[in-house]
Amino acid sequence: MCEVIIPRMDLVLTTRCSLKCESCANLMQYYEKPYDIPLDHIKKYMNRLSKISHEIKQVYVLGGEPFLYADLEEVIKYLNNIEKIKEIIVVTNGTIAWDNDKIKQTFGGQKVVIRISDYGELSKHKEELIEQLEEEEIPYVWDKKEYFFDTGNMKKRNRNKEQLQKVFVDCSTSCRSLLDNEFHYCPRSSHGTDLKLITKRSKDYIDLNDDCTDLELQKKLFEFLNKDDYIEACDYCDIRTPGYYERRLPLAKQTKNVLRVEEED
Ligand code: SF4
Ligand code: SF4
Repeated sequence: MCEVIIPRMDLVLTTRCSLKCESCANLMQYYEKPYDIPLDHIKKYMNRLSKISHEIKQVYVLGGEPFLYADLEEVIKYLNNIEKIKEIIVVTNGTIAWDNDKIKQTFGGQKVVIRISDYGELSKHKEELIEQLEEEEIPYVWDKKEYFFDTGNMKKRNRNKEQLQKVFVDCSTSCRSLLDNEFHYCPRSSHGTDLKLITKRSKDYIDLNDDCTDLELQKKLFEFLNKDDYIEACDYCDIRTPGYYERRLPLAKQTKNVLRVEEED
């Protein structure tokens, strides 16, 4: 058995967000009833995933908005104690104000980097947050965004097999996504299937609740990480398709409504 190394993964804590971006690439705008993943599930499935991996280089802790998750501090401490995890990146939109003590208590002294997605005026507490992080010597990245890329709507494109394979290969995303017990190939797949917008196929994710042995699951994970055929979500996605980098959308345009596929252009 070769080494099972996960270069990068998202750990979804919640589908609740303090913003509702019309073109959220992680599909938060489609959730009618956003929800939190229970803390014991996060621990259980991160534990099993790390048990069957040799190394997890980067865990992106996100939502929605992770600062809305009541047990964020405990999640961070839990991840911090897993030696196989090399870096924890908490992605926030800078909309939520915390006091210095809470910042220090949650993130201080851990292998954590805070990544602030700067959505201009919407990220109204970013300067305050940056000041606090500097004061507490917590590393951060200020991700100043100017536009969103258009990842496309959630309608089925009906691409043929060759086209789907090309979409998959051209995309070559390295970002896996853990949503509750399911470790998906990408966030489009985890959230799209969770929302029942995309048909779930067992070969498109690893079920960390699988009652097979850890060794058997490790083998499945190794094959999954090295898979070379497209996933169902590729028929609902325009990421890195021709013209993708030219198709720019206004930054974090807000919507009040939950998006519905049947109303999309
Ligand atoms: S801030 Fe916008 S883009 Fe980020 S998770 Fe929330 S809705 Fe999605
Ligand atoms: S759905 Fe396919 S094309 Fe889109 S991000 Fe996932 S792997 Fe890439």
